[in-house]
Amino acid sequence: MIIGNVKFVSASLGLAKCPPPVRPEFAFTGRSNVGKSSLINMLTGNRKLAKISQTPGKTRSINHYLINNEWYLVDLPGYGYARMPYNQRKKWLKETGSYILKRESLVCLFVLIDIRIKPQASDLRFMEMLGINHIPFARIFTKSDKISRYRAAENIGEYDKVMLKTWEELPTTFISSAVTCAGREEILKFIEQSVNIFRKDT
Ligand code: GDP
Repeated sequence: MIIGNVKFVSASLGLAKCPPPVRPEFAFTGRSNVGKSSLINMLTGNRKLAKISQTPGKTRSINHYLINNEWYLVDLPGYGYARMPYNQRKKWLKETGSYILKRESLVCLFVLIDIRIKPQASDLRFMEMLGINHIPFARIFTKSDKISRYRAAENIGEYDKVMLKTWEELPTTFISSAVTCAGREEILKFIEQSVNIFRKDT
């Protein structure tokens, strides 16, 4: 897919404030510092996009970007259950959680995971919650340029082993790097195919 047009549409605090659910949506989340902004900028070919709307006070918002006048790329606030103060966690669950659970036009939620770290309870718990609620999601292992291919495969293998204890099959998985642009084509191709299926179904 060629990204021709990228337009910032809205920064919403909660599901009710989001644009009407009439276009296919692909959302991105993960623990903070996982490389979400860098990945969004890499995918859209716009080095400053993900930071643009993050003005003070808006950092916890659900940001919609209209791509090619056809689909929404949605930048969700990151999570980090264990380390989040109680109030912030409650707010996250209320605003972002309800978006994830109830957004009817959400085609796929990309869960970003730092490829360098061991399986984290908060990520596993989050994906478990997605599974229980039948939310379609895919994993993106980020920052692949920071470790060797061998280590990357080893770390992902470890993740898979843990997940297969509770999952019958593994979710769609991508490996990305905002530095080398690894994964860009694969992720955009996946989105393009999903947009076409959404169009056929509606
Ligand atoms: P966010 O908090 O999830 O939006 O993460 P950012 O995109 O702001 O990235 C956090 C840090 O990781 C920054 O210092 C980025 O430069 C760095 N980073 C993000 N993605 C990559 C990547 O693919 N490769 C490398 N080497 N660094 C990355």
